[in-house]
Amino acid sequence: MIRKFIKRLFTRAISPSDQDVLPPTLCRIPRKQHGITRNQINASALKVTLTLQQAGYSAYIVGGAIRDLLLGIKPKDFDIATNAMPEEVRGLFRRSRIIGRRFRLVHVMFGDEIVEVSTFRANYTADTEAGMMTPNPADHHGRLLHDNIFGSQEEDVLRRDFTMNALLYNPATEEILDYLNGYQDIQARCLRIIGNPEQRYREDPVRMLRAVRLAAKLNVQLDEITAAPIGNLALLLQNVPSARLFDETLKLLLSGHSLACLIDLRKRGLHHGLLPILDIVLEQPLGERFISIALKNTDERIQQNKPVSAGFMFAILLWHETLSAWNRRLAQDEKSIPALHLAMTETLSSQRAQIALPRRFDSMIYDIWTLQPRFESRSGNRPYRLLEHPRFRAAYDFLCLRCESGEIDKEIATWWHTFQHASPENREAMLIKETPVKKRKRNTRKRKPIASAEHEKNDQ
Ligand code: ATP
Ligand code: MG
Repeated sequence: MIRKFIKRLFTRAISPSDQDVLPPTLCRIPRKQHGITRNQINASALKVTLTLQQAGYSAYIVGGAIRDLLLGIKPKDFDIATNAMPEEVRGLFRRSRIIGRRFRLVHVMFGDEIVEVSTFRANYTADTEAGMMTPNPADHHGRLLHDNIFGSQEEDVLRRDFTMNALLYNPATEEILDYLNGYQDIQARCLRIIGNPEQRYREDPVRMLRAVRLAAKLNVQLDEITAAPIGNLALLLQNVPSARLFDETLKLLLSGHSLACLIDLRKRGLHHGLLPILDIVLEQPLGERFISIALKNTDERIQQNKPVSAGFMFAILLWHETLSAWNRRLAQDEKSIPALHLAMTETLSSQRAQIALPRRFDSMIYDIWTLQPRFESRSGNRPYRLLEHPRFRAAYDFLCLRCESGEIDKEIATWWHTFQHASPENREAMLIKETPVKKRKRNTRKRKPIASAEHEKNDQ
């Protein structure tokens, strides 16, 4: 009896709070209440779900798509969860493949479209004796070591992060299955974590970033109890594999709400573990102004469905670090262009030590930065050559942001705007005439080798 009580006590201490005493209560919400019709579901996802059901499996549209539809947002993707094993799903669809080594998912292809099907998983296993759920093995910080254990529908719901992300939609009946009051939370626009917040962040610290990103993206409030432990647990992000941290950072920056996210990250002390450079940049008045203007601008572009590249985003975030390294070198009488190249390499390598910034973005970042001084040359052939550069557009957009933030004179962006749209005669008239003396001086100047080895390598 006493042993049972102690076991219950300990299980409770690590259990995901009071709401998940087994079994979670199921609430079925009919279409006339929630209003989502199967016509709103992507045709391919609908087909996959119904095919699985016809083959005798349970299958639902899950996660972000149902949440977004209920909030009146166009879903990005429609994911499916099922009790069929990956091989069974694979067997039903000719154009499908199993992906992932650690946790196997099935991708079903329809032309260019991919529908992702995952088998129900469990992060918690039922302790029937104690009537509780116990979490899977974790490291000494509480980070879950496995998320690759198949489970039941109820277990799959409990392993998800927020109540509004844990709704299941059955397109056949047009019913929503809600185990954790997610529907009510959507109505109240409240982002609430499933279970005990501290434990859930310890299991996977990325959930703290997801909380910030989803609150900004969905324009909902982070529940107080959900938000409370975040500041104290920020350091746990250091324990997350850097490639995963990078992916999440990118999602956040390209969410169309990056400014709101970064302000919130800073408020909660989360930026320290994330993009170390932000510690410095966000504290500098000029840097902050540049970053705010630039992020606001790119958020607007994303919201208008205009393309924004990750390279452009990182060029923005790291610009003031590069600028101060460049200025430091200029103050030591180094030549301007080589100094810029060295400053760029310095910035990117220091960043790379802390965040897995993939090298595929390097050439974009380097091009945007190296083209900046070239906007100052407005004579001879140089402006024409710059216009033809494949990254002119991105570099020009970047220049405009520098002007807008007050870093450089607005006149330069105005000149380039006019030059781009001018007739050939007017362009010619706009060029600044070089004096022969100046020309001779430039030709005889001795130049140091410009590019660093790393830059040359990355440009290939
Ligand atoms: P987005 O709009 O960014 O796609 P999303 O919630 O759909 O938001 P996904 O990364 O597509 O995010 O994840 C799909 C679903 O998987 C989520 O809705 C949630 O149920 C679950 N999920 C994702 N990440 C986690 C996590 N770290 N911990 C628990 N559940 C998660
Ligand atoms: Mg999604």
